Amino acid sequence: MNKVYEIFGSNVFNDSVMKERLPEEIYIALKSTVKEGKTIDSGIADTVANAMKEWAIEKGATHFTHWFQPLTGITAEKHDSFISPTDDGHIIMEFSGKELIKGEPDASSFPSGGLRATFEARGYTAWDPSSYAFVKDETLCIPTAFCSYSGEALDQKTPLLRSMEAINKQALRIVRLFGYTDVKRVNVTVGPEQEYFLVDKKLYDKRPDLIFCGRTLIGAMPPKGQEMNDHYFGVIKPRVASFMRELDDELWKLGVLAKTEHNEVAPAQHELAPVFTTTNIAADHNQITMEMMKKIALRHGLVCLLHEKPYDGVNGSGKHNNWSLCTDTGINFLKPGKNPDKNPLFLLTLAAIIKAVDEHQELLRISVATAGNDHRLGANEAPPAIISIFLGDELTDILESIANGVEHDNAKRIKMNIGADIIPVIRKDNTDRNRTSPFAFTGNKFEFRMLGSASSISDTNVMLNIMTADVFESFADRLEKADDLNTEINLIIKEVMQEHRKIIFNGDGYSDEWKAEAEKRGLLNLKSTVDALPLLKSESNIALFEKHKVLSRTEINSRVDIVLENYTKTVHIEALTLIDMMNRGVIPAITKYTDSLCGAVLNKKSIAAVDTSVEEGLIARLSAANREIYTLTESLKMEVASAEVTTDNIERAREYHDKILKLMGDIREFTDSAESVIPPEYWPYPSYGELLFNI
Ligand code: ADP
Ligand code: MG
Repeated sequence: MNKVYEIFGSNVFNDSVMKERLPEEIYIALKSTVKEGKTIDSGIADTVANAMKEWAIEKGATHFTHWFQPLTGITAEKHDSFISPTDDGHIIMEFSGKELIKGEPDASSFPSGGLRATFEARGYTAWDPSSYAFVKDETLCIPTAFCSYSGEALDQKTPLLRSMEAINKQALRIVRLFGYTDVKRVNVTVGPEQEYFLVDKKLYDKRPDLIFCGRTLIGAMPPKGQEMNDHYFGVIKPRVASFMRELDDELWKLGVLAKTEHNEVAPAQHELAPVFTTTNIAADHNQITMEMMKKIALRHGLVCLLHEKPYDGVNGSGKHNNWSLCTDTGINFLKPGKNPDKNPLFLLTLAAIIKAVDEHQELLRISVATAGNDHRLGANEAPPAIISIFLGDELTDILESIANGVEHDNAKRIKMNIGADIIPVIRKDNTDRNRTSPFAFTGNKFEFRMLGSASSISDTNVMLNIMTADVFESFADRLEKADDLNTEINLIIKEVMQEHRKIIFNGDGYSDEWKAEAEKRGLLNLKSTVDALPLLKSESNIALFEKHKVLSRTEINSRVDIVLENYTKTVHIEALTLIDMMNRGVIPAITKYTDSLCGAVLNKKSIAAVDTSVEEGLIARLSAANREIYTLTESLKMEVASAEVTTDNIERAREYHDKILKLMGDIREFTDSAESVIPPEYWPYPSYGELLFNI
């Protein structure tokens, strides 16, 4: 096998390739455009395009594509070849600056939430030069943003880039207050940990629910689930290990900093964590990671399930979005540091985040709202749907001392005045233990744990960026005018704690006591996508997004429409799949087994001494279950038909949530209890036991 440093980034048009292949003045011009977030000069583009093409052809590429992330949640590509005919009947390989900068995919089939009428099918894609181009499947992939013809964002990347500008602007003001005048840019750094399940392809192929929905809709629990926790950090099985090795290799070639691979709590569940990087690149890399996981799993006879809740009764999958702010000179806003007395920036940033998260709880909840993730949030193994912040006792104490104007406990060597005194170096262990918090401070970053495993990380980071930018703006307005910086910072922290300490919770987020306590504190508990999503359209949220130029009113409205539509479509497909599985799989299976029991009873009846009460008991139980399943399936069909003619999209989503998902749950209960008494040879689908333990 190749050395890692040899293959790393070998399929990426990265900085060193550019340096080597671009004329010096072009290289410098491109770099400064990227660094300062300016728009690209078309003169530079031609030269860059040509160099990119030459390089890509050497890597075996014949095609190029603008690689983008429409609101379907997955990436999209439209491949064009480089070839261009010549007069003498031959071809040349061509790629112009124009083709690099802008593409016009026929975009009519991507969701636009009414933003783009189908007759105006032309959306366009625009090159994001801050994310490197790469070669994958003989195709040069150019990361791009995707907009409607009138410039409205139709994708995940555009608002993300805009939100990075918004926070850069305000964070620069903050950092300059502390005398860091050499800082030119503040970047948001993100490291998303990705969870996933692997399942044997042969078993997967026998489960219509996995094929069509990505999750099981039925399935009785095997005798052993995850209660032993023996899978967690356990030895990785050879088949999985070879998958992971190949995955690392392929990701490294694409410049993705895959770092840690390990087993997760549930059987057949695993996690991959990359080294953190700038947000938009982290988001691109996470998309590439998910794509590669699926592709490479197939090469090993496995299927990678990215769904948030593939199996009931065992843990679901999420993403942990590790988030921080870092200047181009290397200062991490959230690093307590060895000399925190010279770093009140840290405490001010903490205060900003506390205020931002409390004031905008619903935005974080909305950013993770999907049909799949609804099954996970609020269950007893995932963060609750209630947003709260875990700071750890030490940090909470420090902030409380400042708020109350008292000396902090000296035993901890912390004093209250942040101007001159010291804050202890926060040991990671102190802050990392609470795994039940949805939003936890973990040493030098915040970790948001509510994201679903299948979604893009963009929405969450858009929210974090814009919320924090907004609070930073209000802080900067005050601090720039203040006579004494430290006095004003103390005052700000005091106010923040008074108004927002209710969002801080260091206890067990899974407990019922917390639900009750959170309600007392007046925190939001938005249980489903349908509860959460419409809040995005509130006037205050629209004002926030417009003020920071991240999304316009029209763009917000279209997004709400799209997410609701995705929600109803997802549940719709699930309902149809379940109906099909009942009618053609489960009902006939129960009937067949009941028949054989009846046969046995008739047979035995001829001999008076044989007891048939067991068979008769089973017959009674199974035929009753079958009748219930049949009746409920008929009701489900009718509910789906009635939901489909509901025109208001919020109301329709509600029906799917309140009635259809409920009915599906009822059907499942009867089905699972039947499955648990029917011999496997009668059951049409592989069991949970096989799916979870047969790798
Ligand atoms: P765990 O949360 O499982 O303990 P780690 O502590 O190894 O995992 O880190 C989780 C993720 O946090 C990694 O992807 C890492 O790169 C990322 N991370 C570390 N520092 C930062 C930072 N300053 N900004 C953003 N992400 C970071
Ligand atoms: Mg983590």
